[in-house]
Amino acid sequence: MVTLTRANAQPLPPNQIALKCPLCSEQFHLHYTEDEWHRVNLMLKSANKALREDHKSRHKSNHVNLAWTSG
Ligand SMILES: [Zn+2]
Repeated sequence: MVTLTRANAQPLPPNQIALKCPLCSEQFHLHYTEDEWHRVNLMLKSANKALREDHKSRHKSNHVNLAWTSG
């Protein structure tokens, strides 16, 4: 499971990557479980795409939905 949340939203689980919105200075954390580590590059790609989308709504929500291309 992978989640993307605003950096100030909650305490950090062990597996997380700090990210910044590509369009502003809002900070986010990408969390992932051990079984997802091999997908980090795909996760980062998805996360950046999701942050661009989320930016349009001015990061209103602490949780950003990640769109996955599965398979
Ligand atoms: Zn932004």
